[in-house]
Amino acid sequence: MVNGKHTIGFIGLGHMGGPMAANLAKAGHRVLGYDLMPGLLTAAAGTGVETVASAADAAATADVVITMLPAGRHVLGLYQEEGLLAAARPNTLFIDCSTIDVADARAAHEAASAAGARSLDAPVSGGVVGAEAGTLTFMAGGGEAEFAEAEPLLAVMGKKAVHCGGPGAGQAAKICNNMILGISMIAVSEAFVLGESLGLSHQALYDVASTASGQCWALSVNCPVPGPVPGSPADHDYRPGFAAPLMAKDLGLAANAVRAGGVNAELGLRAAELYAAYAEGAGADQDFSGIVKAIREGGGS
Ligand code: NAD
Repeated sequence: MVNGKHTIGFIGLGHMGGPMAANLAKAGHRVLGYDLMPGLLTAAAGTGVETVASAADAAATADVVITMLPAGRHVLGLYQEEGLLAAARPNTLFIDCSTIDVADARAAHEAASAAGARSLDAPVSGGVVGAEAGTLTFMAGGGEAEFAEAEPLLAVMGKKAVHCGGPGAGQAAKICNNMILGISMIAVSEAFVLGESLGLSHQALYDVASTASGQCWALSVNCPVPGPVPGSPADHDYRPGFAAPLMAKDLGLAANAVRAGGVNAELGLRAAELYAAYAEGAGADQDFSGIVKAIREGGGS
């Protein structure tokens, strides 16, 4: 690090990683970017990111390495089989921002520690819009010193960072939050469909529930029926927003953890099933609030 500016290896320049890396470069950090997709390397080069020929090249001279990859197997594969940890200098700080299984996150921390590196899991919420605007929320797991060191970089890419606890705690917070969100979106959707069958207008139910004890983000920000919340995905033919397949993925991770821990979370498990079915069918390219249509059509039972 020179004058507060880091050399950052950034691997995974997709929908989220691309704009996150661009924001770090814009803030004056040296960002060495790598992705398997050549088109994404070209796009990143246009945003001030220096593109390199391999993940190992991105890590070799970096003091911080950030990964933003699809799933745990990609993170562990890159860290270990593809030699990312081995390529880095001792004491390099690895920050994994991907959403992955808690068990995989803990395995990634252990692998980093065994290789003489330091690590944080730091998944995000806020979607592509938040990644572009630099307004993500980070949920971090790992040591206090590592979090303190990462904080200025997280502040470039986001508006809030919460240190949730030790290794894996960031991923744990992410899946618990999204389990609340998935269940509450189904609850709000079922209430609107029940209201329809009782002759209750969407606006009337919204006006009552949004100022009463039914109030929640799924209702008052991402309302699943068109009309009450101008600009919501429902108002735009359910264009994401937060895509149903991503909700299905996060609920699947939560369900894995529920089963592994023997936790009694029947609604979380059912929500995972309903979103998996929706995401594989009509919801493949829809916002997650579109599940109201599957419920209305009987596909949600
Ligand atoms: P994405 O598929 O657009 O990007 C992932 C990138 O990783 C791809 O470009 C892929 O080529 C690259 N990649 C995979 N393996 C690689 C390897 N071995 N070496 C180099 N590059 C590799 O996905 P995304 O939408 O950017 O999501 C990334 C992560 O963020 C996921 O874990 C997702 O669950 C999470 N997330 C996404 C959103 C969202 O709205 N998209 C919101 C919150 C969290």
